[in-house]
Amino acid sequence: MSPLDARYLRRKLLEAQHEQTPVALCGGAFVSACAGGYYWWLTQQAFYVYWLLAAALVILSRLSLYLCFAAWRRDQNGKALESASWRHLHVAGFVAAALSWAIIGLYVEYSLPFADAAFIYVCLAGMVAGSVVSTASVSPRMFLIFSAITLLPVALVLLMSLEPQKMAMGLVSAGFFVFSLRSIYRIADIFEGFVASGVVNEQLLRELRQEQRQVLKLNEQLREDIEMRSRTELQLRAQKQRAESLAEKLYALSSIDGLTEIPNRRYFDEHFAEEWSRALRAQSVLSLIICDIDYFKDFNDHYGHLMGDDCLRAVASTLDLHARRAGDAVTRFGGEEFAIILPGIGLQEACLLAEQMREAVLALGIMHAASKVSERVTISMGVACTIPSQEALAEGLLRRADEALYRAKHRGRNQVVSAGAV
Ligand code: GH3
Ligand code: MG
Ligand code: MG
Repeated sequence: MSPLDARYLRRKLLEAQHEQTPVALCGGAFVSACAGGYYWWLTQQAFYVYWLLAAALVILSRLSLYLCFAAWRRDQNGKALESASWRHLHVAGFVAAALSWAIIGLYVEYSLPFADAAFIYVCLAGMVAGSVVSTASVSPRMFLIFSAITLLPVALVLLMSLEPQKMAMGLVSAGFFVFSLRSIYRIADIFEGFVASGVVNEQLLRELRQEQRQVLKLNEQLREDIEMRSRTELQLRAQKQRAESLAEKLYALSSIDGLTEIPNRRYFDEHFAEEWSRALRAQSVLSLIICDIDYFKDFNDHYGHLMGDDCLRAVASTLDLHARRAGDAVTRFGGEEFAIILPGIGLQEACLLAEQMREAVLALGIMHAASKVSERVTISMGVACTIPSQEALAEGLLRRADEALYRAKHRGRNQVVSAGAV
């Protein structure tokens, strides 16, 4: 918390005193009226007229001071103020009031019997007692001035009269002055402490409100940050999904042969290695067929490359139609060669399937006038099968299927040759 602002505290004290003014003025007016009523028939009325006029002047001046201060307080509210001049005016008001009481006190002492004057002495003591609250808020010194002016001249005159009754009254007045002076410091301390704690509370409240505003601002920023982060996170997740699906599509595209639209050599290499490992773990059979179109160079030469492409597409889809189990894969091995991976299929079954494929290609009835083996397009196939072992290599199975194909070509093409079981 910032240190207590002394000027602000002084202003608060002045305001506290100001709030007491109406009560003090009412008290003064009431006592003046009572005194006027009491003494009107006892002494010279002219004096009382002057005195009452003076008292009224004092009360009215203090009332206008009260109203001016109230207006100033409204206008200046919240600003740091220099209250010294106002304090001086308040002090002047107190001094004027004290003088008016001292004058009437002295006057009744000299002009009236003690029994009648005693009433005004009680009034003086009452005024002094009543001023404790309003003067204590300004300063104990203010009380000292007010009570000294009000009480001491009369007390002094009474003490010096050497009449026992008057001396007793003078003593009581002086004693009253001394004891109330003793208490006023304590009361002023309590009063100041009370106002200061109010000021401290006000300051604390201000600082708390400021902190609350900062916390609210920080909260707002935090909320915006969180919202932005979750938005960014969502965008990132969407981008990641898009990237993943693009990567999948890319992978699929990179694994497909553009011409025949069946998996390409790259796919064969990966899939063959996977199936080899799987069969090795499960100790299950794995068959491989290598297929080659017979006299395809001559086909191209005779019918042109575009017809050659059509032929490749037709053969590829026919082979693909015959290998439809999960794990089966018909791939374009290269040029006019195809490799067919058949997991879990033994040699006999693989040969049977190869035979069906060969017949199906022949049944396509694609004319091949340049072929030396048939008037239609034919294929030759080499089949190999194995149960993979740690020692054996996947390439071994590929080599054996290739050798079988070589033999099929040698034996006259358009046939299936098995590499024999290993
Ligand atoms: P063999 O019966 O001994 O297999 O004789 P072949 O003529 O089929 O074999 P060779 O290896 O001599 O010729 C293969 C031909 O395949 C050569 C090439 O022009 C043709 N070829 C390879 N890829 C394509 C292709 O994508 N489209 C076309 N139209 N022809 C291709
Ligand atoms: Mg070839
Ligand atoms: Mg060929």
